[in-house]
Amino acid sequence: MGFSTTAIHAGNEPDAATGAVSVPIYQTSTYAQEALGKHKGFEYARTQNPTRSALEKNIAALEGAKYGFAFASGMAAIDAVLRLVKAGDHVILGDNTYGGTFRLFDKVLRDYGIEFSLVDTSDIHALEAAFLPNTKMVFVETPTNPVMTVTDLAAVSEVSHAHGARVVCDNTFMSPYFQRPIEHGVDIVVHSTTKYLNGHSDSVGGFAALNDETDAERIGFIQNSVGAILSPFDSFLVLRGTKTLAVRMKAHDENGRAVAAFLAEHPAIVKVYYPGLASHPQHELAKRQQSGFGGMVSFETGSFDNAKKVLENVKVCTLGESLGGVETLISHPATMTHASVPAEKRDKLGITDGLVRISVGIEDVEDIIQDLDQALK
Ligand SMILES: *Cc1c(COP(=O)(O)O)cnc(C)c1O
Repeated sequence: MGFSTTAIHAGNEPDAATGAVSVPIYQTSTYAQEALGKHKGFEYARTQNPTRSALEKNIAALEGAKYGFAFASGMAAIDAVLRLVKAGDHVILGDNTYGGTFRLFDKVLRDYGIEFSLVDTSDIHALEAAFLPNTKMVFVETPTNPVMTVTDLAAVSEVSHAHGARVVCDNTFMSPYFQRPIEHGVDIVVHSTTKYLNGHSDSVGGFAALNDETDAERIGFIQNSVGAILSPFDSFLVLRGTKTLAVRMKAHDENGRAVAAFLAEHPAIVKVYYPGLASHPQHELAKRQQSGFGGMVSFETGSFDNAKKVLENVKVCTLGESLGGVETLISHPATMTHASVPAEKRDKLGITDGLVRISVGIEDVEDIIQDLDQALK
């Protein structure tokens, strides 16, 4: 079945009780039992909820995974997956992951004896050199935020598996519509459903998808034991969101390409970061690994003052954090999403004071371009 058919139908069977075509919001904490030990498979809503189960089937199918788990946020999903490693284990973490992921390792997991190294996973030799005898997991994000570095998932999976380590990929930026990491050998895919999967900037959630039965059982156990589950209402929203994922991603991609091309030609712009541009250092890899480039575009204006002028003069674009919604959001990574990254590390990654990031929405692209053009004047 095609992607859109799966997106619309997987997990979305008509409701058994009423025939409702849209999966209802089962807003209940518990379920009546017919007799002692006799129930319909639902006992308590932290453990099982039909709306959440529908979403779990849906996104797992989109990622080509057997198992899926929905969490209260992207960070809760990442945290649950990281609980597969134990004190004394070592994890290789991409050196430019989402700030919250780095913070989780640096400020939380460190206290529980999880060792980690930061590595530029786009450099396969650097990755190979980073393995230790106790390396149990490699956590990558591609393309990275905000400088859009692309990591070769098949190469990373091959090297990591040779060292006996699982590969986890944060697929939030591409969504399964443009990139299915499991097809490249990745073991576990994580998402912030807050972004493209929900797509309407009105829900916070997370997801983990995988094929390995033992790890899936453990993640399910952790989901129930720790309890950071996605609520029925948020499950409903994300389930509604994925129905239009394909059409939205096509529109984000079309607009993203047009905005990147406009910026690349603009005399006031020093540099544009977008894997869809032929000038991007990993354009060929991106073309091979992704079926599109999406709506995330970053650009260098040369100085903080230049960036500030753009950010404060846009009218159609909204100044704000987050990404992946239908509306165009514009942000300043150095002082917003990446403020907690030390200045020297920001410089090394290219997150300068003049860098601006746009999550290109699905408005009429002429309006987005005209807005950026007037703000750049
Ligand atoms: C937003 C984001 C997260 C965290 O997700 P939350 O839903 O905010 O907890 C993780 N990874 C990436 C790439 C993100 O953009």
